[in-house]
Order: sequence, then C-alpha cells, then structure tokens
Amino acid sequence: MKTDFPFFDPLPGESEVVYLDNAATTQKPRCVLEALQNYYCRINANVHRGAHRTSRLATEAHEAARRCVSQFLHAASEREILFTSGCTEGINLVAQVLALSGRVREGDEIVVSTDAHHSNIVPWQMLCERVGAKLRVVPLTPDLSFDMTAYTDMLSSRTRVVAVPVVSNALGLRLPVEEITRAAKEVGALTLIDGAQAVAHEMVDVQTLGCDFFVFSGHKVYGPTGTGALLGKEELLESLPPWKGGGEMINQVTFARTTYNKLPFKYEAGTPNIAGNIVLAEALRFVQRAGLPTIHEHEKKLVRQLVAGLRELPGVHVLGGDSPQRSSLVSIHVPQVHHYDLGTLLDQMNIAVRTGHHCCQPLMQALGITGTTRYSVAVYNTEEDIHRALSATRRALDMLR
Ligand code: PMP
Repeated sequence: MKTDFPFFDPLPGESEVVYLDNAATTQKPRCVLEALQNYYCRINANVHRGAHRTSRLATEAHEAARRCVSQFLHAASEREILFTSGCTEGINLVAQVLALSGRVREGDEIVVSTDAHHSNIVPWQMLCERVGAKLRVVPLTPDLSFDMTAYTDMLSSRTRVVAVPVVSNALGLRLPVEEITRAAKEVGALTLIDGAQAVAHEMVDVQTLGCDFFVFSGHKVYGPTGTGALLGKEELLESLPPWKGGGEMINQVTFARTTYNKLPFKYEAGTPNIAGNIVLAEALRFVQRAGLPTIHEHEKKLVRQLVAGLRELPGVHVLGGDSPQRSSLVSIHVPQVHHYDLGTLLDQMNIAVRTGHHCCQPLMQALGITGTTRYSVAVYNTEEDIHRALSATRRALDMLR
C-alpha cells in the first residue's frame, strides 16, 4: 500500500518517516496526484458557462465528482452536496445562514460537545453573539464519553442546533451520533455532524445518521487541501438564504433585484475549486477501492497495538484507555513530560506525531492539561510503523525522565 504513495518513496540516504499524523492530514496516493496533473494537462477550463468542448469536459467531470461525493455519503440527492474548502467553511456557512434566516434568535440555544474542534465551537459562538443565543456544552463522563444523560436533560424547545463530531480529533473516541441526532429531532432541533475524523475510517451513511448537515475535509481522506463538502437536506437548503453572492449562484440579476440559482449552485458563488473537487472524487474512489470495512479492520488492529503498547510504558496515560469507542487515533498525556518535548524527540527519531491542544482548547481545560501527544493511523500504516513508534516513545521518555 505504501508504494501507492510517492511520499514514502525512499530518498537516497534517508530513512523512511513513520507518518502518524494522519488526523491532521493524510498523504496522497499516486492516482490522486495523476488526476490533478491530468486535469490541468487535459481538461482545464472554467465550468458551467462555456460553449466549448473543454469547458463541457470540465463541467462533466466536476458534476461527476459531486455525484461521487453524494454516493460516498449515501446522500438522498447530489443537489444536497455543496463543495467547500473543508469542514471549517461548511460549518461557518451553516452557522451564518441560520443567523441570516432568523432560524436562530435571541434566547435560543445551540448545543456543542466538550471534545469539539474549535471549528465546531467558534462559528456557533459567533452566531450566538450575533443573535443573542446561548451556547450549551455537553460534558464528558469520567471515562471521557459523551454524557448522554446530561445531553438529553439539556435539550428543550429552545434548542435550535446540535453540532457534534462523529469522532473527537483529540481523544479518538466515537460519539453516539445516531442517538444524538434522534434525541435532537424529538425537540425539533437541527443537527450538524462533523465527519472530519470519520470519512477516511468508517462507512458513513448520512441517512442512517439522520443529520440535517454533514461536513468533511478532503485533505483528511487522501484528497487535496482546500477541498471538502457540506451536505444539507434539500428542503432545508431550499428554504435557507444564500451565503456568498457572485457568479454562478444567481438565476437573474438586475440592479433592482436578483433571483438565485437552484441547488446546489445557489451556495457556490464564483469559480469553484474545479481541479480540487474533481481530484477529491478520485481520492474517494481510492478509498472505495481499498474498501472501508477492510480499512477499518486494518486500522483497528494497529490502534489496538498502539493502545496496548503505550499503556505498558511507565507513567503514560492513554486518554480514553481501551474504550470500545476508540477510532483511528490515540492521545497520550505523560505527567512531568511536556508533549512538545516528546514530539520533538520523536521527530528526531523520524516519527511524525502531533502535539498540542489539537484545536480543542476547551477540552484541554476540562481535562486540566495543556496538550497531548497524538498518534493517528491511516490505510498505509503498518505493524512495523507501530513497533517503531512504540520503541521510539519508550526511548524518548527514558531520555526525558
Ligand atoms: N473537525 C475536526 C474533528 C477536525 O479534526 C478538523 C481538522 N483537524 C476540523 C474539524 C477542521 O478541518 P479543516 O481545518 O480541514 O477545515
């Protein structure tokens, strides 16, 4: 599998890096890199408005990419798929159009989880400030699970939106998203699910999840940076106002009045990231060929080895321990050892991990720590990688204590 990823091609005199920073971004397979080159060499033209053949080819490839994303998420229709630059843009879009539409008003409540990424907290805080709504935060249980009882107690007729991740990018634990959306629906709240840490690791079916909105970023699923999608239920997107204004999102423009395009174009002002979106679909096809159940089993095995190996190291605290909700990453905290020092020593041993608060400062505050060292796996990682990471961690900790 690593041979499909040119990043791992050995350079003369250099040993191969053990790349365990996949939750931040993944490496790209050859087919994705080739698709990017093919796009610019063969079909580069602006989409939707051209009469010429190359523009038609680009438009067809772009809309085929949308169909691919739609099928990947099991969406009801490709009209529900809006291309974005990633999760952050998708969440901001939803928060802002909900404010614009008056669907969230003074006194209303937005519910988020303690382990949310900043991109699933700050846009909601901004919305609350703008309209006078209140942010409610679901606590974690002592074993760092989403506190379902506290959540259901928090829900009321004032709850307008519930926004949670499928998997926390700092803890690596999966939330009971299906139950969360079901309970939200009972009080008439909208749900936004952040799939950033899910789509590369488990089969996602947005209809089974039962959410109103779903976001993911292309670069975390073997695709290019600056790509991603927001799925929104068709009738909802129809009823919400547009966000950015410009070309493509209009039907007719006069100085007196403008009417808007149909979905999904109403939300895609300006020239889209044509190359990126086409190549994102190639990345999703790569994942489909590898098979998500196979990827899931492979990664689960590696993570089990990581958790077991890290827990054997003296003083190492694995956040979430051997929780059955564990997904494809593991965060550790070692009292008296700064995560940055550990990460730096691991880097010197050619092991790439991520250290810090992982854009989850409120979670770190709740845990009473400043950061963690995070090991996250992807389809190309091997047992040898895990073995090398564990033995390097042991050596690094010996040096630091
Ligand atoms: N949510 C989660 C759970 C994430 O892990 C990340 C990226 N670390 C994001 C949202 C934001 O993704 P992006 O920066 O690609 O918009």
